[in-house]
Amino acid sequence: MEPLAILVLLCLPVSSAYPLHGAVRQDHPSMDLAQQYLEKYYNFEKNEKQVFRRKDSSPIVKKIQEMQKFLGLEVTGRLDSSTMDVMLKPRCGVPDVGGFTTFPGSPKWRETNLTYRIVNYTPDLPKESVDSAIEKALKVWEEVTPLTFSRRSEGEADIMISFAAGEHGDFYPFDGPGQSLAHAYPPGPGFYGDVHFDDDEKWTLGPSGTNLFLVAAHELGHSLGLFHSDKKEALMYPVYRLSTSPAQFQLSQDDIDGIQSLYGPHPSSDATVVPMSSVSPRPETPAKCDPALSFDAVSTLRGELLFFKDRYFWRISRWNPEPEVNLISAFWPSLPSHLDAAYEAHSRDSVFIFKGNQFWAVRGNEVQAGYPKALHTLGFPPTVKKIDAAVSDKEKKTTYFFVEDKYWRFDEKRRLMDKGFPRLIKDDFPGIEPQIDAVLQAFGFFYFFHGSSQFEFDPNARTVTHTLKSNSWLLC
Ligand SMILES: [Zn+2]
Ligand SMILES: [Zn+2]
Repeated sequence: MEPLAILVLLCLPVSSAYPLHGAVRQDHPSMDLAQQYLEKYYNFEKNEKQVFRRKDSSPIVKKIQEMQKFLGLEVTGRLDSSTMDVMLKPRCGVPDVGGFTTFPGSPKWRETNLTYRIVNYTPDLPKESVDSAIEKALKVWEEVTPLTFSRRSEGEADIMISFAAGEHGDFYPFDGPGQSLAHAYPPGPGFYGDVHFDDDEKWTLGPSGTNLFLVAAHELGHSLGLFHSDKKEALMYPVYRLSTSPAQFQLSQDDIDGIQSLYGPHPSSDATVVPMSSVSPRPETPAKCDPALSFDAVSTLRGELLFFKDRYFWRISRWNPEPEVNLISAFWPSLPSHLDAAYEAHSRDSVFIFKGNQFWAVRGNEVQAGYPKALHTLGFPPTVKKIDAAVSDKEKKTTYFFVEDKYWRFDEKRRLMDKGFPRLIKDDFPGIEPQIDAVLQAFGFFYFFHGSSQFEFDPNARTVTHTLKSNSWLLC
């Protein structure tokens, strides 16, 4: 277990503060420790070590400050003794940085009173509607930070908001209706912080067309320094979707964590920094023995079993019957969360991971080059936009893909879809109800996961032999 390895390192004597004056001796034990700590828990990039210099804007100083702020220490940006003390304490293995990310170098506004100006308007909506959509979008961020926004009607403002179509004077011409809806620049002078809306979109206030408030709230997140999040529920998720009515809109915890990592909480909030001892995984790790637990995808990997749920997966290895929970991103940083399906192609020593109309191949903890690939390259018709589950028969080198009430069969040797498919699941897997969440092959059976239930299916007798709880594998 990695945390143990780190604890051993931590036993090296650390007597005093280790200031980052001048070039840093990288062989210093406390420096190594800090480096590892920040890499592990604060997303500090491994290759940033070359630029260790005392400069307030250097990445390591910022990272140390970020860590100090998060843990309620004095924000010095230095590895002083209280910071080193905290790094020596045992802690939860889940990183303190979640899905949100900031722009390289984490640019942010130095001022908290920012100005904005709506430079022009779309013909799609009355001016007052545009004004109020923008105001509402700013309020989303105002409510959770010390930031305030005041409107300018002329001259320069920090955040200049405009509507434009096609080529519009920056390096990112818009592309007509659809696709790119808007973009925004991270904090800084000049055009930085500005928001551009593609005026080839049909801007609306409701659920049809493109909702101006929702896109504005996302773009303003960029203007304030947030980059994209891989959390589906986050406003900063890069794909536009109107899941709730704009009136019921709420920032996700991920967005709040992101913006507060730059600016801190709203002054009126009583949100105090959580002390180290009670730092818990955020969001809550799903409880493995929750009787309602369902899985997104299940696969084998070199003799281990992997059960995927949200941004986590449980791993059951031969060496450790106790399931070990991990962040997907800790193993495969480029993979998404909330997967659709996964299966192991034993002959290729690869696990294929599916989400939406894309799939990835991983070998051990390496995502293979050339991925993600489009789902249709496997031979699916264009109408199939995602799959529900997949499982490969190790002996027959045949893979089954389940999509709603149908399934396809794929020949792993020829890497081709078999003729005569799709077929109905109920015809060939009697007793198995769509939609299928996940399938696992073990002990000669197929285990079909459907919500919190699991069906053991005997492929020879073509019948369901047992019904179990989905989490029966997790020693519950
Ligand atoms: Zn632009
Ligand atoms: Zn964006």
